[in-house]
Amino acid sequence: RPVNDHLGKESLVKVLKQHFGYSGFRGKQLEAIEASLSGRDCFCLMPTGGGKSMCYQIPALATSGIVLVISPLIALMENQVMALKARGVRADFLSSTQLACTKEKIHEDLNSENPSVKLLYVTPELVATSGFTVKLINLYNRGLLSLIAVDEAHCISTWGHDFRPSYRKLSYLRVHIPGVPIIALTATAVSRVQEDVIKSLQLRNPLILRTSFNRPNIYYEVRFKDLLGDVYTDLSNLLKSSGQVVCSIVYCLERSTCDDLSLHLSKNGISSAAYHAGLNSKMRSTVLDDWLSSRILVVVATVAFGMGIDRKDVRVVCHFNIPKSMEAFYQESGRAGRDQQPSRSVLYYGLDDHKRMEFILSNGIKKKSPYLSSSDELLKKPLTDFKQMVDYCEGSGCRRRKILQNFGEQVSASLCQKSCDACKYPSLLSTNLADRKRNGNIFKKRGLTPVFLQRSFVAASDPSSEYWNREEEEDSNEDISESEDEALVIECSAKSKISSKATLDEKFEALQRAEESYYQNKGRKKQVKFGLSGRNI
Ligand code: ADP
Repeated sequence: RPVNDHLGKESLVKVLKQHFGYSGFRGKQLEAIEASLSGRDCFCLMPTGGGKSMCYQIPALATSGIVLVISPLIALMENQVMALKARGVRADFLSSTQLACTKEKIHEDLNSENPSVKLLYVTPELVATSGFTVKLINLYNRGLLSLIAVDEAHCISTWGHDFRPSYRKLSYLRVHIPGVPIIALTATAVSRVQEDVIKSLQLRNPLILRTSFNRPNIYYEVRFKDLLGDVYTDLSNLLKSSGQVVCSIVYCLERSTCDDLSLHLSKNGISSAAYHAGLNSKMRSTVLDDWLSSRILVVVATVAFGMGIDRKDVRVVCHFNIPKSMEAFYQESGRAGRDQQPSRSVLYYGLDDHKRMEFILSNGIKKKSPYLSSSDELLKKPLTDFKQMVDYCEGSGCRRRKILQNFGEQVSASLCQKSCDACKYPSLLSTNLADRKRNGNIFKKRGLTPVFLQRSFVAASDPSSEYWNREEEEDSNEDISESEDEALVIECSAKSKISSKATLDEKFEALQRAEESYYQNKGRKKQVKFGLSGRNI
């Protein structure tokens, strides 16, 4: 391995400034760089946008050798290589999509006495081939390989959210090239993933660096589909800030929802496009280009629109359907505000979506069950993960805290600074059973009958929003029961509106009228509906 002159902090900052124009390192970047330069393995856990790439790009520029970067996506590699080349850094990638003559040129350079390439990006599939292994051993024996960076290292773990079998084969690296330090980088903070990565790559006493996953510039919010009369109008309003459409991603569970929603938004003057695996690659790259160059501002996508989406000024990431896990939710919502400017994550939560996701996950488990024993935790994992996601939506506590606790972080009470709906409007949310019962009793004392719907969520609302003023028609054939286990959601039919500025008594009165009219109209399909959270009353 090339001998590294020991580079002090100042000279590393100089390299950073010279090539990237930044004046200092962020978070734990410097520690990671110093570890790699001193030959120590490193496991680096930083949230999306945390600046992981710099942790292996600077060592490449500060030493005489080559840094091999293993990256799961060709698009991701292409972007990084292009950006590096634009800064005058010699970087290349090898992939199956390249022309034979391009590949040949790269191999020629690698075979030369003094290769000019500093960063060589490859896919894990290529690394696993015997031909490439021979090439690497050759570079290593000639003392030209200074560091191996395994980007998106969570792909090595079945506990990660996008497991790639070929990542498993990377364990060969340590066997064949034992003297080169490895830096594994990921934004996936599940502890099982960390263990898996360290074990599979056979990292030796790695320096473990992790930075907080808190994204202080993202405001987290959940909106309840079943209480919003017209979700589409609500979404349209969300995507416009003071009348201007803002750069956004809307995630949907299914391709058809993407197509329908995108059409609907476009009809309403919000230029948008659908993006999903059902489109051919040419159409997908057109949508991506249009969005990256602001010809369209809103992409309505499935999770196929994911890793490597490098636009920093995304103002809104909306989940139109509940994601399958907190992990997925964090990665997707984290695509908002990478420029550190105020941004929003809004999740539309609905009971139908909840049931649908549960169905999909249970089916997946059934498919896996012949291969895994019923005691295997991996079998239960999808549903356990989903439960946490549901708790994020239905629970009454700080949403930021829930996200961070999910990643095992300790969270101080003052961390959120009212930057989630639960902290900003604490009285509006309560799913605590004791609270619900107490609220129910308050209703009874006031001569009202609490109506418990068979729904497991409460109305969460911003008092300034239209929830209070909404009067709408909708089909309602709800099976109403008085189950105390259900959240207290009052969904009565009402002829009258309730203003957000109404006093408590006025709200009760309106509720009473609503209740009367509810019973009068019971049985009829067409009813007017509004929702109140019991706690707020
Ligand atoms: P990640 O891979 O962790 O998602 P990136 O490596 O893409 O993050 O970095 C996110 C952004 O932060 C990039 O635009 C990068 O240029 C920028 N960045 C990285 N390090 C620094 C730094 N020390 N100072 C300022 N900006 C930085």
